[in-house]
Amino acid sequence: MALAIEPLFHDPVNGDFYKRAFLYMTEPERMISFHVPWMDDEGKLNVNRGWRVEFSSALGPYKGGLRFHPTVDDGILKFLGFEQIFKNALTGLPLGGAKGGSDFDPKGKSEAEIRRFCESFMTQLCRYIDASTDVPAGDIGVGGREIGFMYGQYKRLSNKHGEGVLTGKSLLFGGIHFRPEATGYGAVYMAQHAIEDKLGQTLEGKRCAVSGSGNVAQYASQMLMKLGAKVVSVSDSNGVIVFENGMTPGDWDEVIHAKQVKRARLSLLEGATSGVYHHGHSPWTLPGLQQIDFAFPCATQNEIDEAGAQLLLEKGCMGVFEGANLPTTAEGQAVLRSNPKVLYIPGKAANAGGVGTSGLEMSQNASKTQWKKEKVDAMLKEMMSGIYKQMVEAAGDDGTLEEGCNRAGFLKVAHALKGLGWVY
Ligand code: GLU
Repeated sequence: MALAIEPLFHDPVNGDFYKRAFLYMTEPERMISFHVPWMDDEGKLNVNRGWRVEFSSALGPYKGGLRFHPTVDDGILKFLGFEQIFKNALTGLPLGGAKGGSDFDPKGKSEAEIRRFCESFMTQLCRYIDASTDVPAGDIGVGGREIGFMYGQYKRLSNKHGEGVLTGKSLLFGGIHFRPEATGYGAVYMAQHAIEDKLGQTLEGKRCAVSGSGNVAQYASQMLMKLGAKVVSVSDSNGVIVFENGMTPGDWDEVIHAKQVKRARLSLLEGATSGVYHHGHSPWTLPGLQQIDFAFPCATQNEIDEAGAQLLLEKGCMGVFEGANLPTTAEGQAVLRSNPKVLYIPGKAANAGGVGTSGLEMSQNASKTQWKKEKVDAMLKEMMSGIYKQMVEAAGDDGTLEEGCNRAGFLKVAHALKGLGWVY
């Protein structure tokens, strides 16, 4: 971040203002922390920690996902919440930035335990959120099921039943079409724009390595296959399945069944797909996989390190499109920047289709209606192409897409802070 916006600090007219605005942005406006007591199936009391980082309201209500994972702490949530401010700015919608979650580990928990946890989490969180104050959604460990349980509790506690106070809801109670697909599809739409514009190529026949097998990876893979690309991997935290000849629609169905129905690990699929399972590897550590044309890291933060980025360059990678939030470490980013021919689009632009569609869900809820599929798909496509245009414009003649995306998001928030009289 600092690297890409640093030149703005030397602007002869606004330089000092940009420095002050940056300083103002770096500390969350408010951080809430609370306990989450819940009963397991043995009747034992457990207590987890919960947080909501309300980072910036400059552009609109605090907006961002909730993550349930044992690695969650206040530091990780600040790191992710800071990024969310600029991602949300790029969508062009009036959304502030936030992140939240808990160190609760959903793995191995029964549905009843998950429900009791979600209800307790919302019992704490509900006093801080509102459709025009703070609107959480899902993230790692929080999908449609968990949002449903939390929304159910919110409705009981608040007696408000048509609110866009959470997004990612089921279509049965106020959700929007394409929200589950939006992040993955959006990342592929973004890649399409960059590949056509900068390389004069298409995704057809390209070998695309995808990491992760959750919501973002599932729908990025599906859209890549639809566009004729070869999806050569999907992974989870235990291992990776490599499809040397590209994943087939049958393989995709197996992955969906394992993840969405059985809620199991990919190792369950050993021998069940056309791919080969490698325990203890990710697509960014595998010595096999001869060629990777494009990389779609869709798992978690800091998954591509320096060695991983180097391996990508050795395998001929022409572009990295981040479906996850901050999946490339600072050292990994430096390696990618060392080859200016490699297209590198950070998550704040590449995965903004998810939160962008959440923003559309808020508008849909405010207008008390249900939009048609075609309308939402067209709006998502338009949003991704709008973000691409903003990046190119802000990059100027000699900037990279990465610089363009960081500058465009930062400038929007900085100018809002000025207009509000909060930084002068
Ligand atoms: N967790 C997603 C993200 O990182 C979605 C957030 C939202 O929809 O509010 O952008």
